Amino acid sequence: MSLVFEKGSLFSHDCDPNTREELFEKEHVNAGIKQIANGIGVRLIATKDIQPGDIIAIPYLYPSHITWSVQDRQNYLKTYYHFDCTCNRCIGELNEQKYSS
Ligand SMILES: [Zn+2]
Repeated sequence: MSLVFEKGSLFSHDCDPNTREELFEKEHVNAGIKQIANGIGVRLIATKDIQPGDIIAIPYLYPSHITWSVQDRQNYLKTYYHFDCTCNRCIGELNEQKYSS
């Protein structure tokens, strides 16, 4: 399933997101001819089952950053987005480190 939003919207970040963003060329049909309209759009592709009431979360990280350590992800998000990530993945990995050392 994918959703397309006309205006830029703010979605929550999660290091284990349930969607991913995909860029596409907007097009519309004018007199039977497909045309590119207003450049590039963004659509969200669900990567997990999403239940009613679930928060739609996207990764603020580049795909290659998803495999980073919790410290690297936290540093990146703090530097570029100015928040401490408290997603389930970060909390779980931080707790694992706390109790394994
Ligand atoms: Zn996180």
